[in-house]
Amino acid sequence: MLNNVKVVLVGTSHSGNIGSAARAMKVMGLTNLVLVDPQCEVDEQTVALAAGAADIAVNATTVKTLNEAVADCSLVVGSSARSRTLEWPMLEPRECGKKFVSEGQSSAVALVFGRERTGLTNEELQTCHYHVCIPANPEYSSLNLAMAVQTLSYEIRMAYLEREQSQYTEEAQEEYPRHKELEMFFTHFEKVATDTQFINSEQPGQVMNKVRRLFNRARPEAQELNILRGILSSVEKKISGK
Ligand code: SAH
Repeated sequence: MLNNVKVVLVGTSHSGNIGSAARAMKVMGLTNLVLVDPQCEVDEQTVALAAGAADIAVNATTVKTLNEAVADCSLVVGSSARSRTLEWPMLEPRECGKKFVSEGQSSAVALVFGRERTGLTNEELQTCHYHVCIPANPEYSSLNLAMAVQTLSYEIRMAYLEREQSQYTEEAQEEYPRHKELEMFFTHFEKVATDTQFINSEQPGQVMNKVRRLFNRARPEAQELNILRGILSSVEKKISGK
């Protein structure tokens, strides 16, 4: 199950932080590190700070965009020290650990961390199903990147150990769509809403952000998403007069 957890670092600029994050992961049994558009190399500093976890940093996958990093994931959680203008479904770190362990049984799940200086952009945050915030000192709430990785990886490990020790049998899990399928749905939705002129393509406004928030809150299952796609296709067919 822990192999299904991807730790995604977006736009990291200090190579040492990649090493420290790798170490933070490995002590908690996580191995899958993805770097999105890193602003530094994996170098000696990385290896020095990784200590015995350099393998994780060296074997990290590097991709250009967050969408690429999480395309195959059915759960994407973004970590952020502050709440943004658009409120999003939130998880406490402990709940986040439990969710990763239960949903990570059957598919890939991603925990996303932002840039040292500026965190995640609003667009990146809106790519996530949930946000998780470590409830730190409100007057000084921003942890060092690797320490945030440590704290949230620890919660995943605690939830994992708790589940290992408990005797109860698993309930059947809902099957959630992969991130890329959800993105295809949003693209389809936007196209139909633009074709029907509900969305004005010159001035699209906040409609799609709110629609994203709605469907992230509802978490449609794979089958439900197929129904929604089917409805969109039927509208397309009708308005094209075929
Ligand atoms: N100044 C930035 C902080 C970046 S710290 C900002 O305000 O967003 C680098 C990353 O560590 C953040 O993007 C986030 O992923 C993680 N992080 C730091 N403090 C956190 C906290 N209190 N809760 C959750 N994540 C946190």
